[in-house]
Amino acid sequence: MTAILSRYSTMPYRRAGASGLDLPAFSFGLWQKFGPDHPYQTQREILLRAFDLGVTHFDNANRYGPPFRAAEKTFGRLLKQDLAAHRDELVLSTKAGNPIGPGPYQRGGSRKSLLTSLDHSLRDLGTDYVDIFYHHRHDPGTPLEETASALATAVQSGKARYVGISNYEPGFAAELVALLNRRGVRLLVHQPRYSLFDRSPEDNRLLEVSSELGFGLVVYSPLAQGLLTKKYLAASIPPGARALDSAFLKPSQIDETYRRRATGLNRIAEARGQSLAQLALQWVLRRPEVTSALIGASSTWQLEHNLKALDFPPFTTGELELIDEFGVH
Ligand code: NDP
Repeated sequence: MTAILSRYSTMPYRRAGASGLDLPAFSFGLWQKFGPDHPYQTQREILLRAFDLGVTHFDNANRYGPPFRAAEKTFGRLLKQDLAAHRDELVLSTKAGNPIGPGPYQRGGSRKSLLTSLDHSLRDLGTDYVDIFYHHRHDPGTPLEETASALATAVQSGKARYVGISNYEPGFAAELVALLNRRGVRLLVHQPRYSLFDRSPEDNRLLEVSSELGFGLVVYSPLAQGLLTKKYLAASIPPGARALDSAFLKPSQIDETYRRRATGLNRIAEARGQSLAQLALQWVLRRPEVTSALIGASSTWQLEHNLKALDFPPFTTGELELIDEFGVH
């Protein structure tokens, strides 16, 4: 595979908090449709196209696929066969902590479960280190001290360049930052859900806390899993759409309230000459605290379309007020 040399010319890179690391404005995640139930050739095309368009950051977790652990193997195959010569240009992340099985060491925030999972991820990805190792979710059953010590060990052992957390309330994030700092380790990023349909990082002050404490935000599901695109405005759900085959997005979510909101937002997007998807992505990236919008795609068309989201003029105050009327608070 010959990667296109111009790949860095169009993608903006944004600094992750007060660290020294730049991440692409768009990162790519392998949560769904990156296991063996979907054709490897399509997965490969999407991932390589993303790289050619300047996406350097690829996000994984021990749970992604399905089944669990499959998406890391998919990426490992690509890394070996196509991207081995480009490992230094990639920021690979993975996560542990959400359940991947019934056993006590297949979940949570203990040293045992986090460091064991990291070893398995390195094996499946076929790499000696990940760039970012995340704790997927705060575990109230484990002392935060122990989780911090496991994350610090990941960095100090050379198995992770940086660490991150995901889905943590701001208060626990702040506690973890202090515990990591005592060990000389920085919290690079926090990964919350953030979109026009989920504004909790505004409501719970995570945006402010991130800039006060110097970590970046890599925000996931900025398209609300596809709800913030035009596809669900059609009379029936199109074949292949996530709402038809995912445990995480159900047809019942496509109701009258949804249609009213999405139609209103779509109208604003059309007046700006962009699509609803592009408006939604530009909207999360309007905040300087957001380092990267972490997207998914099931085709190269979606990927290329979405990556054009920053080709439009910034929102005016009037447009932002109008958008507020249709987003969910
Ligand atoms: P998005 O909100 O970007 O949704 C992506 C999906 O929307 C695509 O897979 C596709 O689904 C659909 N879509 C995208 N673009 C278009 C388009 N232009 N037109 C029509 N449909 C489109 O993000 P995800 O929910 O996929 O999450 C992204 C990543 O975030 C994950 O892969 C993962 O890395 C991370 N994440 C992290 C979590 C955490 O707890 N830390 C939780 C969830 C996600 P389709 O075509 O199949 O309908």
